[in-house]
Amino acid sequence: MTSEIKQLKQSMTIRYILAITLIAVFSIAAFVSMNVVIKGMDKNVYLVNVSGKQRLLSQYIALDAYRVYSATQTNLDREELLLIKKRLRKNLTEMSEANYMLSQGLLIDNSSIEPSPEIREMFFGELNLKFRVQQYLALVRLIMDLPEYEQKKIIILDIERFSDGLLNDLDKVVLQFQKEGEERLQKIKDTKFVLLVLTLLVLVLEILFIFRPMVNRIVALSQMKEGVLEELENQVKVRTLHLEKMNKQLNQLAHHDALTGLRNRLNMEANIEEVLEASERNGIEFAVLMLDLDWFKRVNDQYGHDVGDFVLRELAQILQQSVREGDHVYRAGGEEFVVLLNRISYQDAKQKAENIRQSVEDYVFMANGVKLRKTLSGGLYHSSLLKVSSVKELLKQADKALYAAKNAGRNIIMEVKA
Ligand code: GH3
Ligand code: MG
Ligand code: MG
Repeated sequence: MTSEIKQLKQSMTIRYILAITLIAVFSIAAFVSMNVVIKGMDKNVYLVNVSGKQRLLSQYIALDAYRVYSATQTNLDREELLLIKKRLRKNLTEMSEANYMLSQGLLIDNSSIEPSPEIREMFFGELNLKFRVQQYLALVRLIMDLPEYEQKKIIILDIERFSDGLLNDLDKVVLQFQKEGEERLQKIKDTKFVLLVLTLLVLVLEILFIFRPMVNRIVALSQMKEGVLEELENQVKVRTLHLEKMNKQLNQLAHHDALTGLRNRLNMEANIEEVLEASERNGIEFAVLMLDLDWFKRVNDQYGHDVGDFVLRELAQILQQSVREGDHVYRAGGEEFVVLLNRISYQDAKQKAENIRQSVEDYVFMANGVKLRKTLSGGLYHSSLLKVSSVKELLKQADKALYAAKNAGRNIIMEVKA
């Protein structure tokens, strides 16, 4: 039983550690994969911004290039021209950097992202955007540095031509990055859905293969325990009954004589005491008859001990049958018997004692083909004859009367003398 519990504890520990580990591993994997996808999304958003800015820069640059070109015509003051040129240079640098970043997939934090084949195609393929942007920027730088208006005029025409086509193609880049962003967003949604389904699947599998068998084992074990308890209870019941029976038997043996089955001396004095006390309290009359077989030793000597025993057993039955239910017969020792007669008048007690004596005298004992007759002598105590202060004294008086009966020639009942 204890090893069963130990085993159960072990298997349950393994099961829930496994269940928790599975969930933990799964959660970490889900977290990492979501992180990767979301990080890609961040980078993509950044690239969409840069490409949008590049598109805008191309327009600012075209506008400022035109302002530089037309400065002499529009009488732009010198300071304002310097300001425009400064802004133009800054924008040129920014657009050059943006061109590099977008074409290489390089980000501001020096991390990189692999450009998609479509983007690669735009920058290095037919559209050749990387080179065209570089060319565009070179033209603008040129116009800033050329001193002659006529020279500038040729260049500005080139710039305008370039600018329109570039705007259109840079717009395509922005759209492509946006499209890739949306695809990534969709990928996040898909990943989320897959993770949800997988989580539920893991839970269902854990229920089926970890928790359900665990519950089943616990139920089986507690059922087994119940069975064992019931069995034990039954055993205890059976044993208690057996013990009670044995106890009764022991009690019977302790308080009764083995040969005759009569009560022995053990309770005799206590019983007489009770009756004596009741008599003193309520004046209920009672009698004690002490009996002894006459010349019993001769039976043993003549016919053997077995015949002696037989006579004692038969006598016990005669005595038992001649008293009422509330009266008791005791084997006081050897061939000596005591009869306790409760609630009896002096006359009746005398009559009863005489009847007993007579019935024994009349009785023929038949043992092993031997016929024999026996008599008995008795000493009769009645509560109306003499007040006694104790059971001992009572028995002593009865014994004295019995002794007197023996002396009187036996087969006679003598009363206790006042
Ligand atoms: P009395 O008339 O004076 O009483 O003579 P008695 O022979 O009956 O008296 P005594 O006391 O001398 O002898 C009693 C005998 O009873 C002695 C013993 O052998 C016999 N006796 C006592 N207990 C038993 C018993 O359990 N079985 C048998 N068979 N004999 C017993
Ligand atoms: Mg005797
Ligand atoms: Mg005797």
